[in-house]
Parts: sequence; structure tokens; C-alpha cells
Amino acid sequence: MPFIVTQPCEGCISTACVDVCPATCFHRGNDILLIDPQECIDCGLCVYECPVEAIFPESEVPDKWASYIDLNAEAANFPAIQQKETPKGKCLKE
Ligand code: SF4
Repeated sequence: MPFIVTQPCEGCISTACVDVCPATCFHRGNDILLIDPQECIDCGLCVYECPVEAIFPESEVPDKWASYIDLNAEAANFPAIQQKETPKGKCLKE
């Protein structure tokens, strides 16, 4: 079961998660990172790196963010990101 990036990532994109991911899961969506469910190996490492607690196992995504499951499923349509980048937006303050 893949992990899912949800609403708190929007406007944050700290990218700390990207550095710990042992696979090539992360893609840069529209003002949010996305996890490709076809690549995720369910290790959970990214969960602990996210400063805004945006990442959940698919089965534990809060109902209010259920639509993000479909959004992450589209990850492969966006550019891959494989290294941490300088944070922008609201994560600069955290
Ligand atoms: Fe990568 Fe593991 Fe997070 Fe999946 S759960 S996106 S494999 S770090």
C-alpha cells in the first residue's frame, strides 16, 4: 500500500522527504509533491521527514483529504524530483 502526500504539503514542498526515499517516488506537482504509487515500496521513511505531517499510508489518509489518493496516482505525469531542494513557501518558517 503506497504512501500519499496530502494538503499540508501545498505551498510547502520542503523536499526533505525526497532525500530519504530509497526509491524514485517523488514528483513535483502543482505546488505539491506527489508519490508515484507504482514506485513506492512502503518503507514509511518519508513520513518522519515531513515538517508538516502531510504524508500518510493510503489506508490512513484522513477522509477530508481522500481526493489526494487520486492526485498522487497521477504523479508519473509530473517531473521527477530525486534530491532535496531549497525549501520555499511556508516551510521556510518552520
Ligand atoms: Fe519513498 Fe518510502 Fe516514502 Fe514510499 S514510503 S515515498 S518508498 S520514502
